Formats: sequence, C-alpha cells, structure tokens
Amino acid sequence: MDAVDALHPGMLDSVLGAIDLGAVVLDNQRRVVLWNRWMAQHSGWPSTAVLGRDFFALFPELEGKRLDSAVLQALRDNFPAVLSQTLHKAPIPLYADRAARISGVRIQQAVAVTPLEVAGAARHCLIQVSDVSVAVNRERLLREQALELRSLTFLDGLTGIANRRHFDQAIEKEHRRARRSAMPLSMLMIDIDFFKAYNDHYGHQQGDDTLIKVAGALAAMLQRPMDLIARYGGEEFAVILPDMDSAGSACVAETLRQRVVRLAIPHAAAGGTRRVTISVSVATLAPHSAVEVAGLIGAADRALYTAKRSGRDRVAIDSP
Ligand code: GH3
Ligand code: MG
Ligand code: MG
Repeated sequence: MDAVDALHPGMLDSVLGAIDLGAVVLDNQRRVVLWNRWMAQHSGWPSTAVLGRDFFALFPELEGKRLDSAVLQALRDNFPAVLSQTLHKAPIPLYADRAARISGVRIQQAVAVTPLEVAGAARHCLIQVSDVSVAVNRERLLREQALELRSLTFLDGLTGIANRRHFDQAIEKEHRRARRSAMPLSMLMIDIDFFKAYNDHYGHQQGDDTLIKVAGALAAMLQRPMDLIARYGGEEFAVILPDMDSAGSACVAETLRQRVVRLAIPHAAAGGTRRVTISVSVATLAPHSAVEVAGLIGAADRALYTAKRSGRDRVAIDSP
C-alpha cells in the first residue's frame, strides 16, 4: 500500500470552513482563537473582528448564564457539557440570514462545550453550535397537531360539544371526586321530542341544523366551568353537574327546557306545542352514596322514560 501523507495543515482550515456547524475555540483566558466560517456567517462578525477578544465580552448577555459556567467547567475542571435544548433554545445571538437578524429570530441551537488539551499550553475549550431549528419546528408542529387531534377525539363532529367518550371519562372522574369530597353528583339526560317526525317532515339536513342549534343553546346555559354537556347519542344529550343536589339540578333542567321552548323552532309534526321541545331527566347521587356510575345513568334513563310517557316537554326526577 502507498504511504498516505498526513493531512495538510491548510486542509484543516478548509474543513473547518466547510462544516455546517459553528466551531469556536477559546483559550484559557476565554479569548477566541478559532472562529469558523459558519460562526462568521451567522453572528455577522468575521473572524478578524473577534480573534483575541474575550468571548463573553462579545456576547455580554451570556455572562453568568449556563454557557458561561460550561466554559468555566471545561477550562478549569476538564468537564465537557451539553446545554439542554429545552432550557436553552437559542442562547447565542445567531441568525440564519439578514431578514432573521432584523426580525430578531435566532437560530435554535444545540451547544456542546468540550475541553481541549493543548501540548505545552493551558487547557482550551471547543464550543460547537449546531442549527436545530428544523427539528425544533417539526417538534412544535407535531405537538400542536397532537393537541388538536386530542381535542378532536373528545368533541362531537356535528355539534362541537363534548362527545360520548368525553362524557364517559368525565362522569367517572367526577364520580371519584364526589366520593373523595363527600359532595353530591347530579346528571341530566336530555332527549329531543318527536325528532324522528321532525326529520321525516323537514328532512335530515334541517334535522342536523336543529340539533346544532339546540346543542349550542343548551351549552350556553351552563354557567359553572365544571359543568359538562355532551352529545350522548343521536338526539340525546347528557349533562354532568358536579357538587349539585337534586333541587339545584331540577332547576337547571327546567331552565334548559324553557330555553329550548324559547328557541321557538317550528315543528309542525310535534304533538300540541308545534315547536321543538326537549324532555329532561334528573338523577342525583347523594354524598357518601355507594351507587356506581351505571346506577346513576340507569336512574337518569328511567326518569327520561317517565318524562316521555307523561307527555314530553317536561322534567322528571329519579334517584338511584
Ligand atoms: P321521542 O319524543 O320519544 O324522543 O321521539 P323521537 O322520534 O325523538 O325518538 P326516537 O329515538 O324514536 O328517534 C330519534 C330520531 O333522531 C331518530 C333519528 O332519525 C334522529 N336522529 C338521531 N341522530 C340524528 C342526527 O345526527 N341527525 C338527524 N338529523 N337526526 C338524527
Ligand atoms: Mg332518543
Ligand atoms: Mg327523541
């Protein structure tokens, strides 16, 4: 095999100039002894402007910060360090281009500090800066999408209120909370009256519109932040009223019933009222009740049946 010459010293400069990474070497007095082209490009200072100068005098905002202590540890204690990206997103004022510099948008950085042993001289250190903007932005996008997906999976697509899955989770959570805090827990079950006839008469599309209107009006009536209304099934809604007793919940139920009457949505095929109306049931777990969630929902179902059987457009109460 032919002998290979050692790397030409000039070649090292070319390599340092070509790498897509900021490279800075500081001597033991924190003076800049190497500043590669990447650093010149993104800091706006050519190496001639910074060589020999105190790195932290160039970037006074870094004094006393994490990079300062990382450099100290490298020079004094021979410890390497990597700056946590989540805590230090863009420590050094470096910019992708002029426009970014003007608008003040820094490059997102991963910074590593490594001690360098130098023969015959005091220890130096190398600061490496890489541009992680792309990865950081992608991560943010993914996080936002995950959040959006998460909220979508808990919302009903038609009406925009909580869906059945959300209700199922919330009622279990509130049930546990009610037990812990020895508070009552109430729920309402709401069903639109003669809705099959409404669809038959006005068409499914208008049926959808009416569902959206009723859901919106009901949701707007709930005052407390912990109250939850969900679409329970086709034209049925369920409301969770934490910390509310039977009398208070019957009041809320009656308010909701009247609200739908006041919407005054014509329903030519409905019994006497000629308007869209709802039947509402109330079920309450007393403090210290041993009844499970299924028992509460069963009581609400029974009361709803009672409200329907006794004429609709009314409130009925049951206790499990
Ligand atoms: P009741 O007074 O006893 O509640 O009579 P009802 O006709 O409302 O009861 P039923 O449960 O027999 O019918 C419910 C109807 O609701 C059946 C279906 O056509 C309608 N429905 C369910 N989901 C939707 C929906 O998403 N959009 C529309 N437009 N209609 C729906
Ligand atoms: Mg129904
Ligand atoms: Mg119905």
